[in-house]
Amino acid sequence: MLKKKWGQHLLVSSGVLERLVELAEIKEEETVVEIGPGTGNLTKKLLSTSLKRLYLIEIDSDMITRLKNNINDPRVVIFNADATRFDFDTLGEKELKLIGNLPYNVASLIIENTVYHKHLVYQAFYMVQKEVAERLIYLKSWLSIFVNTFYQVEYLMSIPPKFFIPPPKVNSAYLRFIRKDFEEIKDLKYYKNFLVKLFSQKRKMLKHKIAPEFLERASISPEKRVEQLSLSDFIALYRSFSQ
Ligand code: SAH
Repeated sequence: MLKKKWGQHLLVSSGVLERLVELAEIKEEETVVEIGPGTGNLTKKLLSTSLKRLYLIEIDSDMITRLKNNINDPRVVIFNADATRFDFDTLGEKELKLIGNLPYNVASLIIENTVYHKHLVYQAFYMVQKEVAERLIYLKSWLSIFVNTFYQVEYLMSIPPKFFIPPPKVNSAYLRFIRKDFEEIKDLKYYKNFLVKLFSQKRKMLKHKIAPEFLERASISPEKRVEQLSLSDFIALYRSFSQ
């Protein structure tokens, strides 16, 4: 029985699953975390690579039972946990590659949590709703700026609903996140709140949201709106504001 509340749409096309793994370019000795493995369709393909260890993070205990029946490989460690809040530091690994056909209702929260672990996660490969993918790429939301500050986000491929059971109502997209040589921002929660505030009431000019001295110091016109800023404008503005 599949559960809607946990966004359970299983990928069933062997060809698509293989392509997703191929695009993730998993190398020998890599440590991989799969988010939302479900019954283990993608998991099995991941295990056909030479990865060193595979952590699975799944919230649904019924799925965990099915996973345990389907998967028997000494490289696998299963966690019955919530990926929106999972503390990846507890794994005791230095570097992680993340992958998952994400539950779409909480995909944004999982992406946000990934950024909080940027010191560990050098790459992530996520299947998300196509609309979410586009907003992330085109700097259309606070989350998009938040992610793009630290990761290069690339659109790898579109996947139509017919490859899933049950088929979702929306198109899907597979994204690659590659960590950049970013400038350090220490307090990520503070940075997030700053971006959330800037993106509230998008139509308002910046001068109504932030004191002119900060805009001036970042060389940004006070008459601009949030949608007219580039990624480097956001970072400059944050530096000016938090100095
Ligand atoms: N990867 C599988 C299943 C994808 S469906 C496949 O491609 O076939 C999404 C999966 O994420 C489901 O198994 C669902 O139970 C799980 N899930 C939903 N919310 C979650 C959360 N917060 N943390 C971890 N797993 C979650």
